Amino acid sequence: MKFPENIGVLVERALPHALELRRKLHQNPEPSYHEYETTRIIEGALESHGLEPHDRSPRTGLWVDVGDHPVVGFRADIDALPIDEPEGNIPVSLNPGWMHACGHDAHAAIAFGIALVVRDLEPERGVRILFQPAEEGFPGGAIEMVGEGLVDGLTSLIAFHVDPALDAGYVGARTGPITASADKFGIILTGPGGHTARPHQTVDLVEAAARIVVDLPAALRSKIDARSPLTLAFGSIHGGTIENVIPTRLELKGTVRTLDRELWDQLPGIMEKTLSNLLNMSGAGYELSYQQAIPPVVNDARVVSRAVDGIEAAFGSEAIVPTPTSMGGEDFANYLEVVPGALFRLGAAKGRGDLHSSSFQLDEACIGIGIKAGVAALSNLSHP
Ligand SMILES: [Zn+2]
Ligand SMILES: [Zn+2]
Repeated sequence: MKFPENIGVLVERALPHALELRRKLHQNPEPSYHEYETTRIIEGALESHGLEPHDRSPRTGLWVDVGDHPVVGFRADIDALPIDEPEGNIPVSLNPGWMHACGHDAHAAIAFGIALVVRDLEPERGVRILFQPAEEGFPGGAIEMVGEGLVDGLTSLIAFHVDPALDAGYVGARTGPITASADKFGIILTGPGGHTARPHQTVDLVEAAARIVVDLPAALRSKIDARSPLTLAFGSIHGGTIENVIPTRLELKGTVRTLDRELWDQLPGIMEKTLSNLLNMSGAGYELSYQQAIPPVVNDARVVSRAVDGIEAAFGSEAIVPTPTSMGGEDFANYLEVVPGALFRLGAAKGRGDLHSSSFQLDEACIGIGIKAGVAALSNLSHP
């Protein structure tokens, strides 16, 4: 696909349709794995413009090839979050308790706009567009789409994520890790229990749990290369019922995150060893359950540089800004296990409310910019 000289005209033509789709999706936020209406709306929009999407019925999500022989891909996610949207937002969620608070409605609209522009270009080397469900879910929709072979044969895959820290008009780019892995773990501690008057005669599980909370992050860090960023934090502790009874069971849950792809492979083993060393002296029984959820997103250097060249050709070099790494997780990482690719941040600041918060408000200007940047990046990536 050649860089379209008339890209501005093509984007202007696609934009009203993309905005209409974004507003429809925003009014209809749906949970991960249950994006039925969302899938139907996107499918209808694509078909009404003569495209031939493939749905994943009975599962949600869909994909479409635009042009023959797709060599490059664009991924959008489509799910929403269990957050009440404040009244007064325009458009506003019509699905109480649910809100597009991560901007996936914009991602889907941008992907749709890209499809319309690429269709007008009739490229010899086409583009595959994925509308992926359940980015916020576990294990996430990306791993399913990878399993279905939907990125097999592609030479590169890109995605945008709206960024409320960046004004519309800017694209945040980074080579290497951009989001962290996100693994979940649970630790169940067991002991004989007893009277809090005589903790020396039993195993004090509350004390053991406190030691784990304080000592495990540092002990884990001491086992890994100091150059590999890692964070471990607990989100839940449950155990005991009353002041004077030492419990027989106590449960802790948390997440471990790293930006180091190789370390990610080794983390379950390192956790097991570190925990067993920590608890050795206490006498507490324990069971560790560790779920390797998603690897870090590690942006491919060639894909980033090609995409950036394309975006700069469309907007000028001032549109590209460096973007920091996030210790949040993004299941786009699952695709990058199979195909080189990159995730970019797309400026979308309006109210400065954060993602995953009811205060999030999207600057819709990011949609036209996303379509143009996407087409520009994909056209540059589609050359061998
Ligand atoms: Zn999110
Ligand atoms: Zn998101």
